[in-house]
This record gives sequence, C-alpha cells and structure tokens, in this order.
Amino acid sequence: MAIDPTLEYDDNNIFAKILRGEIPNKTVYENDYVLAFHDINPQAPHHILVIPKGAYVSWDDFSARGSDTEISEFVRGVGHVARQAGMVESGYRLLANIGRDGHQEVPHLHVHIFAGKPLGPMLNNG
Ligand code: AMP
Repeated sequence: MAIDPTLEYDDNNIFAKILRGEIPNKTVYENDYVLAFHDINPQAPHHILVIPKGAYVSWDDFSARGSDTEISEFVRGVGHVARQAGMVESGYRLLANIGRDGHQEVPHLHVHIFAGKPLGPMLNNG
C-alpha cells in the first residue's frame, strides 16, 4: 500500500531496520552516508536501491531538510553505484517514488536503479 506523503519518519520502517542491521540485505556499496543493496523483488535484471543513512521519509523530506553534505554524498553515491555495476555504457534508469500518487511503499527515501535490458517507455499507465 502506498504511504501517506505527510507521514513523519517511522523508525520501524524496513529500511531503518536494514540500516540498524536488524534485517539482512545484499549490500553492493556502503559509505558513511549511503547504503546500496539489491531490491528483494527485482523489476529488471539489475535492480539496486540506494538510501541515505539519515532518517528521511522521501525525496521531498530529504531535499528540504538534508544537509548539503548528505545531499551531495547521496547524488554521488547513486552515480558511483551505477558506475561500479558497469551500467553506464548500456544505460540505466533512476526512479524515486514519493508519496501516495508516486506509489511509495517504504517510507525511507530510496532511489531505484534499473538496468540490464532495454527498459521501455518511461511510464506504464496501468
Ligand atoms: P517503493 O514502492 O518505491 O517504496 O519501493 C519499495 C521497494 O523496496 C520495492 O521495490 C521492494 O521490492 C523493496 N523492498 C522491500 N523490502 C525489501 C527488503 N527487505 N530488501 C530489499 N528490498 C526491499
């Protein structure tokens, strides 16, 4: 179910538990500011999630409250993960779902990275 975009940060969301080490994940990259791991239900041959380590509900929350360092480290982290995974030459897609109409399900900011095949048109209006 998609989240209410006005929600306050929930310390018990699944990505908060991953960050605390309470739930396992398949990490592909980590530094002081970001964690990147394989999506548990991949929608493309390569499907990686990148999250900031700070407690931010969504892109909206992060872009309003995140520090300059957190924001630049996150943007650089996403680019690094895609380069590290060898996605640049063939290309890839970034996606961040925000709130109800964005169909965000986990209320901790995450950027999806999809790659590994032609990804088709931008939106499936289903
Ligand atoms: P969104 O709809 O943008 O909030 O996407 C949430 C994503 O989190 C989905 O693609 C899920 O498959 C993924 N997901 C949920 N739980 C886990 C988990 N424990 N480990 C990795 N990915 C997860």
